Formats: sequence, structure tokens, C-alpha cells
Amino acid sequence: MDGGGSPLAEQLALWARVGLVYLPRPVQAPAVETPEPVAEPVSEPAVKSVFKPDAEPEKTVPRRDDGVTPLTALPPEGDLFSGKPKSWPDLAACAADAAGCVKCELSRTRHSVVFGEGAPDARLMFVGEAPGADEDAQGRPFVGRAGKLLDRMIAAMGLAREEVYIANILKCRPPGNRDPLPAEATACRPYLEAQINLIAPEFICCLGRHAAIRLLGREEPISRLRGAIHRYNERSRVIVTYHPAYCLRNPNSKRDVWQDLQVVMGELGLEPPRR
Ligand code: URA
Repeated sequence: MDGGGSPLAEQLALWARVGLVYLPRPVQAPAVETPEPVAEPVSEPAVKSVFKPDAEPEKTVPRRDDGVTPLTALPPEGDLFSGKPKSWPDLAACAADAAGCVKCELSRTRHSVVFGEGAPDARLMFVGEAPGADEDAQGRPFVGRAGKLLDRMIAAMGLAREEVYIANILKCRPPGNRDPLPAEATACRPYLEAQINLIAPEFICCLGRHAAIRLLGREEPISRLRGAIHRYNERSRVIVTYHPAYCLRNPNSKRDVWQDLQVVMGELGLEPPRR
């Protein structure tokens, strides 16, 4: 030792001579973030939780007990983690991947993945919020009370349910029909994007504020999103209307929905059926 170094340097040199090496303290792994529900501004009229006030009795869906790997332990995979857009050659391939999806915690409580259904070349696509109990039980979108009203809305436009495509922002039911969490919508987004790209509808009708803000990426009251034609991409334009479950609770809103649907009918050249 030359004695000219700092006390620390001398200490380290001494340790080195006796075989001790200075090791920096291991860096603590950052705590895993749990997605928090983002408080969203109250819409006007409030369409938050479009399902809840319907007071449909909660159905008990058998909980999966298959030891699904917790989300935090999943290996990086696909679009969500790499940021690379995932593309599927057709709806069936996309649906097959979605059927085994474990990208969010909803995969642990769902009974079925409700991918969506309808014409693969539909000119009009409806996008709702998330499956409810009936949809989760049957694996099909909009089959409960709100779905029956949606069927009537579609028929009033002169279309059959099989002629349009019906999907949701989330493919799995949030427990208790709570609002979708932003992280869940993000995890599910590649499936919806693929559906829109593969179907390439001329119009997308967002049912309710949650569908609208997730699809358009604009966190605004439904009153500001309705009444305008928005654009999703070059091909697909978007209108926003009230969710059928909201209409069931607020029958006066059906008039507004009919007004919104007539805009779409005008744009698509659809005639209401003759009575
Ligand atoms: N509500 C939705 O938003 N989607 C469904 O599939 C059913 C009810």
C-alpha cells in the first residue's frame, strides 16, 4: 500500500489482499405495479356501470381452478409486452388466441372468452363494453336483456343480427360487472384492433361511454362524443350512442339512440323495414 490513497481506497486494497472483494448492494427489483382503476369523469347523463342497475341476479359462474399463472409471472410475449403489433390472418386465428388469453386477471374469473360474432365482412360493427353474466355463461356477446334491445335496434335499421358484427372492448367479464380497468382494456386491445382491421366495417357504433373512450382514446362525456361522426382509420368511421342497458333504465334515451342510428343508416344507405 502506498499510503497516498483515501481511507476507503486503502480499506478496499486491504480487503482485496485478503481475498475480499467489494460487492455493490444488489439492486432491489422494482415493485410490481398493480393497475389501479382510473377515476373517470362522470358522464352526462351518467352511463357509468351500464350493467349494474339492471339488477340482473348475479349468476354464479364456476371459478377456474386450473392454476393459471399469475399475470406478474408471465413471460414477455406478443404485442402487449414487446409493443409490436400482433396480426392474425383471420378472425378464427385471432379468436383461437383470445380463447387462451391470460394477459389479465379476468382470465382467472371468466367462464368464457366472449370474442364477438357476426358477419366477417359486416359494413356495421357494434362495440360494447364487456360481457355480462349471460354473455360469460354463453360465450356470445349481447345475449341478455341489453342484447335483446340491441337486436331490436338492429332490426329497426333494416338489418339482421347476422349481418352486423358485435364485439366488446373486453372479451372477458369483469367480476360483478364492474367497469373495465384501463389495464384490462389495454391488454384486450389487440383483439379488438384485429377484429376491426379484418372486418374493415364502414361504421363502428360504440355502445356507451366506455366503448367510446377506449375506442376513440378520448376521455370525454358521452354528450360530447355523440352527435358527431368520428374516424377510427381510413376505412372505418365511428358514431357513439347510449348503451342499450342505459336505454333500459332510461327509456327516453331510446329516441336519442334512434337519432344516432339514423345517421348511420343515412351514411350506409339503409332503409328501415316496411311494417
Ligand atoms: N353489455 C355489453 O357491453 N356487452 C355485452 O356483450 C353485453 C352487455
